[in-house]
Amino acid sequence: METQKLYVLPNLPYDHAALKPHLSEELLKLHHDKHHAAYVTGANAILQKMDKARTDNADFDVKATFKELSFHIGGHILHSLFWRNLAAAGRDGGGKPSGRIENVLTEEYGSFDRFKKLFSQTAASVEGSGWAALTFCKGTQRPIIMQVEKHNINVYPQFRILMVLDVWEHAYYPDYKNDRGKFVEAFWNIVNWAEVNNRLEKL
Ligand code: MN
Repeated sequence: METQKLYVLPNLPYDHAALKPHLSEELLKLHHDKHHAAYVTGANAILQKMDKARTDNADFDVKATFKELSFHIGGHILHSLFWRNLAAAGRDGGGKPSGRIENVLTEEYGSFDRFKKLFSQTAASVEGSGWAALTFCKGTQRPIIMQVEKHNINVYPQFRILMVLDVWEHAYYPDYKNDRGKFVEAFWNIVNWAEVNNRLEKL
Protein backbone atom coordinates (compact mmCIF):
# COMPACT_ATOMS: atom_id res chain seq x y z
CA MET A 1 0.00 0.00 0.00
CA GLU A 2 1.25 3.47 -0.86
CA THR A 3 2.42 5.61 2.05
CA GLN A 4 -0.05 8.36 2.83
CA LYS A 5 2.57 11.12 2.99
CA LEU A 6 0.20 13.41 4.86
CA TYR A 7 0.36 15.52 8.01
CA VAL A 8 -0.74 14.10 11.34
CA LEU A 9 -2.08 16.02 14.35
CA PRO A 10 0.39 15.41 17.20
CA ASN A 11 -0.98 14.63 20.65
CA LEU A 12 -0.50 17.30 23.29
CA PRO A 13 2.57 16.46 25.43
CA TYR A 14 0.35 16.89 28.56
CA ASP A 15 -3.35 16.59 29.29
CA HIS A 16 -5.86 19.31 28.48
CA ALA A 17 -6.06 20.50 32.08
CA ALA A 18 -2.28 20.65 32.66
CA LEU A 19 -1.86 24.36 31.99
CA LYS A 20 -4.54 25.56 34.42
CA PRO A 21 -5.09 28.17 35.74
CA HIS A 22 -3.27 30.01 32.94
CA LEU A 23 -5.06 28.17 30.14
CA SER A 24 -8.29 26.31 30.80
CA GLU A 25 -9.08 22.77 29.80
CA GLU A 26 -11.86 24.08 27.56
CA LEU A 27 -9.49 26.45 25.77
CA LEU A 28 -6.89 23.75 25.11
CA LYS A 29 -9.56 21.37 23.83
CA LEU A 30 -10.81 23.94 21.36
CA HIS A 31 -7.37 25.16 20.40
CA HIS A 32 -5.67 21.80 19.87
CA ASP A 33 -8.52 19.44 19.03
CA LYS A 34 -10.41 21.86 16.75
CA HIS A 35 -8.21 24.71 15.50
CA HIS A 36 -4.89 22.89 15.13
CA ALA A 37 -6.72 19.88 13.72
CA ALA A 38 -8.32 22.11 11.08
CA TYR A 39 -4.90 23.19 9.76
CA VAL A 40 -3.82 19.56 9.46
CA THR A 41 -7.03 18.69 7.64
CA GLY A 42 -6.70 21.78 5.44
CA ALA A 43 -3.11 21.03 4.44
CA ASN A 44 -3.89 17.38 3.72
CA ALA A 45 -6.95 18.28 1.63
CA ILE A 46 -4.77 20.46 -0.60
CA LEU A 47 -2.07 17.80 -0.93
CA GLN A 48 -4.74 15.28 -1.91
CA LYS A 49 -6.24 17.73 -4.39
CA MET A 50 -2.80 18.14 -5.96
CA ASP A 51 -2.30 14.36 -6.02
CA LYS A 52 -5.60 13.99 -7.83
CA ALA A 53 -4.72 16.72 -10.31
CA ARG A 54 -1.49 14.86 -11.08
CA THR A 55 -3.35 11.58 -11.59
CA ASP A 56 -5.90 13.31 -13.83
CA ASN A 57 -3.16 15.38 -15.48
CA ALA A 58 -5.38 18.36 -14.69
CA ASP A 59 -4.51 22.00 -14.06
CA PHE A 60 -5.33 23.75 -10.81
CA ASP A 61 -5.17 27.34 -9.57
CA VAL A 62 -1.50 27.37 -8.63
CA LYS A 63 -1.38 30.80 -7.01
CA ALA A 64 -4.41 30.31 -4.76
CA THR A 65 -3.51 26.73 -3.92
CA PHE A 66 0.07 27.45 -2.84
CA LYS A 67 -1.03 30.46 -0.82
CA GLU A 68 -3.56 28.35 1.05
CA LEU A 69 -1.09 25.49 1.48
CA SER A 70 1.49 27.84 3.01
CA PHE A 71 -1.16 29.10 5.45
CA HIS A 72 -2.22 25.63 6.58
CA ILE A 73 1.27 24.14 6.81
CA GLY A 74 2.44 27.24 8.69
CA GLY A 75 -0.45 26.82 11.11
CA HIS A 76 0.32 23.15 11.65
CA ILE A 77 4.06 23.66 12.21
CA LEU A 78 3.67 26.65 14.53
CA HIS A 79 1.03 24.95 16.68
CA SER A 80 3.18 21.81 16.91
CA LEU A 81 6.04 23.97 18.24
CA PHE A 82 3.74 25.93 20.55
CA TRP A 83 2.43 22.90 22.47
CA ARG A 84 5.98 21.74 23.09
CA ASN A 85 7.24 25.07 24.42
CA LEU A 86 4.51 25.12 27.07
CA ALA A 87 4.46 23.18 30.34
CA ALA A 88 2.61 23.13 33.65
CA ALA A 89 3.35 26.17 35.83
CA GLY A 90 5.60 25.38 38.76
CA ARG A 91 6.75 22.10 37.19
CA ASP A 92 8.58 22.51 33.88
CA GLY A 93 6.81 25.77 33.07
CA GLY A 94 7.66 29.31 34.05
CA GLY A 95 10.62 30.77 35.87
CA LYS A 96 13.66 32.03 34.04
CA PRO A 97 15.76 30.48 31.30
CA SER A 98 19.05 28.84 32.15
CA GLY A 99 21.90 27.32 30.18
CA ARG A 100 22.86 28.48 26.71
CA ILE A 101 19.52 30.17 26.04
CA GLU A 102 20.02 32.41 29.05
CA ASN A 103 23.46 33.47 27.77
CA VAL A 104 22.21 34.10 24.24
CA LEU A 105 19.25 36.21 25.41
CA THR A 106 21.28 38.20 27.91
CA GLU A 107 24.00 38.94 25.37
CA GLU A 108 21.55 40.07 22.70
CA TYR A 109 19.02 41.97 24.80
CA GLY A 110 21.06 43.07 27.80
CA SER A 111 18.85 41.24 30.28
CA PHE A 112 16.16 38.60 30.38
CA ASP A 113 13.64 41.24 31.46
CA ARG A 114 14.37 43.34 28.40
CA PHE A 115 13.92 40.31 26.14
CA LYS A 116 10.65 39.52 27.90
CA LYS A 117 9.41 43.05 27.38
CA LEU A 118 10.32 43.06 23.66
CA PHE A 119 8.75 39.66 23.07
CA SER A 120 5.59 40.73 24.91
CA GLN A 121 5.43 43.91 22.82
CA THR A 122 5.85 41.81 19.68
CA ALA A 123 2.93 39.62 20.71
CA ALA A 124 0.78 42.55 21.78
CA SER A 125 1.29 44.46 18.54
CA VAL A 126 0.49 41.71 16.03
CA GLU A 127 -2.11 43.22 13.76
CA GLY A 128 -5.08 40.86 13.73
CA SER A 129 -4.03 37.21 13.81
CA GLY A 130 -0.48 36.00 14.21
CA TRP A 131 2.40 34.93 16.39
CA ALA A 132 5.45 36.16 18.23
CA ALA A 133 8.41 33.87 17.63
CA LEU A 134 11.91 33.75 19.03
CA THR A 135 14.23 32.56 16.29
CA PHE A 136 17.96 32.06 15.91
CA CYS A 137 20.02 33.05 12.88
CA LYS A 138 22.89 30.63 12.38
CA GLY A 139 24.70 33.09 10.10
CA THR A 140 25.03 35.83 12.70
CA GLN A 141 24.62 33.58 15.76
CA ARG A 142 22.01 36.03 17.04
CA PRO A 143 18.52 35.45 18.33
CA ILE A 144 15.96 37.45 16.37
CA ILE A 145 12.33 38.03 17.28
CA MET A 146 9.93 37.43 14.42
CA GLN A 147 6.40 38.82 14.29
CA VAL A 148 4.40 36.43 12.14
CA GLU A 149 1.17 37.61 10.58
CA LYS A 150 -1.39 34.83 10.11
CA HIS A 151 0.80 31.68 10.07
CA ASN A 152 3.24 32.44 7.32
CA ILE A 153 3.84 36.14 6.66
CA ASN A 154 7.09 37.88 7.74
CA VAL A 155 8.83 34.53 8.23
CA TYR A 156 12.62 34.47 7.84
CA PRO A 157 13.50 31.41 5.77
CA GLN A 158 15.58 28.78 7.56
CA PHE A 159 15.79 30.61 10.88
CA ARG A 160 15.39 28.03 13.60
CA ILE A 161 12.29 28.75 15.69
CA LEU A 162 13.03 28.34 19.39
CA MET A 163 9.76 29.51 20.95
CA VAL A 164 6.38 30.74 19.73
CA LEU A 165 3.35 32.43 21.20
CA ASP A 166 0.02 32.22 19.42
CA VAL A 167 -1.95 35.47 19.61
CA TRP A 168 -4.81 34.55 17.34
CA GLU A 169 -8.07 35.36 19.11
CA HIS A 170 -8.86 31.64 19.35
CA ALA A 171 -5.73 31.27 21.53
CA TYR A 172 -7.10 33.43 24.36
CA TYR A 173 -10.72 34.52 23.92
CA PRO A 174 -12.30 31.61 25.81
CA ASP A 175 -10.26 32.55 28.93
CA TYR A 176 -9.26 36.19 28.53
CA LYS A 177 -11.87 37.65 26.19
CA ASN A 178 -10.32 40.69 24.47
CA ASP A 179 -7.48 41.09 26.99
CA ARG A 180 -4.54 39.87 24.92
CA GLY A 181 -2.11 41.59 27.29
CA LYS A 182 -3.28 39.51 30.23
CA PHE A 183 -2.90 36.33 28.18
CA VAL A 184 0.64 37.32 27.17
CA GLU A 185 1.50 37.92 30.85
CA ALA A 186 0.11 34.49 31.74
CA PHE A 187 2.22 32.90 28.99
CA TRP A 188 5.43 33.57 30.94
CA ASN A 189 4.18 31.26 33.70
CA ILE A 190 3.97 28.28 31.36
CA VAL A 191 7.04 28.63 29.13
CA ASN A 192 9.05 25.42 29.05
CA TRP A 193 12.54 26.93 29.06
CA ALA A 194 14.26 23.54 29.03
CA GLU A 195 12.56 22.80 25.70
CA VAL A 196 13.47 26.23 24.29
CA ASN A 197 17.08 25.65 25.33
CA ASN A 198 16.96 22.16 23.85
CA ARG A 199 15.90 23.57 20.48
CA LEU A 200 18.81 25.98 20.58
CA GLU A 201 21.27 23.23 21.52
CA LYS A 202 20.05 21.07 18.61
CA LEU A 203 20.88 23.71 15.99
MN1 MN B 1 -3.83 28.81 17.33
